Formats: sequence, structure tokens, C-alpha cells
Amino acid sequence: MFGPIFIKPLTSRNNKTGSWRITQRPKFLQKNCIACKMCFLICPEGCIEGEEKNTYHCDYDYCKGCGNCAEVCPKQDIVMVKES
Ligand code: SF4
Ligand code: SF4
Repeated sequence: MFGPIFIKPLTSRNNKTGSWRITQRPKFLQKNCIACKMCFLICPEGCIEGEEKNTYHCDYDYCKGCGNCAEVCPKQDIVMVKES
């Protein structure tokens, strides 16, 4: 329904060792979100949810830190921060 969504290219950088490693996590600023659902649709782990503007967030238990959500957000309302 949504066509070939560009999921593959962004994984290569984190796949160097052949396994996923979380070194960063997305921070949902919830300031300029327009509820476009792009982050929800692109997340390879399906761990993002949200209903209205500025309610989008992810479940860090499942997030792999790929950065796709931050990359695709048209409002730059998601930033990747270093895992502490
Ligand atoms: S960083 Fe990747 S896995 Fe984590 S919420 Fe964003 S798209 Fe999903
Ligand atoms: S991609 Fe950005 S603007 Fe769109 S729903 Fe997600 S956080 Fe909101």
C-alpha cells in the first residue's frame, strides 16, 4: 500500500559487525510533530506509536537505534542522542 519504503540503505552503517548495537536512541521532542506517521511507518521494529500531534514515542525495549525515524521526520522532531 505504501510502496517500496526505503528501509534498507540506512541499516548498513550500524551493521558493520553483522549485529545491531544500540549506541544511540531517538528522542521524540514532541514540539513540532504534525502526526504524519512517517516515523511509525518507517520503523523496522514497529516500536513507535502515537495518535495525535506531539504524542509519538517509541518503546526503548524494542528500539534498535537505527535512526530511520529521525531521518524521515519532516519536522526534525526526532533527534538521535547518545545512549547513556
Ligand atoms: S531508531 Fe529505528 S528502531 Fe528505534 S524507534 Fe527509530 S526507527 Fe524505530
Ligand atoms: S515523523 Fe515526525 S512529524 Fe511525523 S509523526 Fe513522527 S514525529 Fe511526528
